[in-house]
Amino acid sequence: MAAPHDQAFHELSLSAVPPWGILIYEFYSALRQESVMQVELPMKCGPCGTEGKQSIRVDASSFEWKCPGCGATAYVVLDLDLTIGFLLVERSRYELQEKRDYALSITMAAFALDCELSRLFIKWTRIADLVAGRQFDAAKCERELKRLKFIPKFKAVAEMLYPGGIEAYVQQTPALAATIQQKFPSLHIGSLAEDFHKAVMKPRNAIAHEGDLHFDKKDAERCLSIASFGLNIFRDMDLERRKLLI
Ligand SMILES: [Zn+2]
Repeated sequence: MAAPHDQAFHELSLSAVPPWGILIYEFYSALRQESVMQVELPMKCGPCGTEGKQSIRVDASSFEWKCPGCGATAYVVLDLDLTIGFLLVERSRYELQEKRDYALSITMAAFALDCELSRLFIKWTRIADLVAGRQFDAAKCERELKRLKFIPKFKAVAEMLYPGGIEAYVQQTPALAATIQQKFPSLHIGSLAEDFHKAVMKPRNAIAHEGDLHFDKKDAERCLSIASFGLNIFRDMDLERRKLLI
């Protein structure tokens, strides 16, 4: 049964949209419920080299893929490092390249970076509790997470992964520092948290908070590129941090 506010929304729609509009709305709502949150992964057949795509739910850990070229089937188990952020990046790429829905692509790119930071925050809080012999309190961790806006969360997670945070990590990694300086003019060493916020979260906030849909292909490409780059940096920091556990 729909919640009261859903019904109110539906009544508003009825007065504003013609009957055929309601039918289309209902049809796509039903479809959306069926497909839940999907991402599309690029696939390549080992035996024949045919390339294809496979849609999966973001919470899938494995799937079966049938090659459209030779008919060979493969059972694919997803890499544990293909986390929520990387899956949502694929969804952002799909919206950009296949649907050309630039606002949605930007929204998904920002969602990807934000979700990945939250996931890492929970993961490393849990590990810190385990190492200290404390009971992990999921509700408390969730409350702490909710209090953090993007920039403090970005800095807190980076600190959990590397002493001195992302700035120290970048300074200790010359190739990464060079990539930032040469390929990402929107990012500056010394203000990375603020720059990621400006480049990725601000456009998302303009869409989500103000309904601003003026963004074009270049805006979406830049946002996706910077969000993906952020995810890669945090994945590398996570790998470094994991080595210290062994
Ligand atoms: Zn094949």
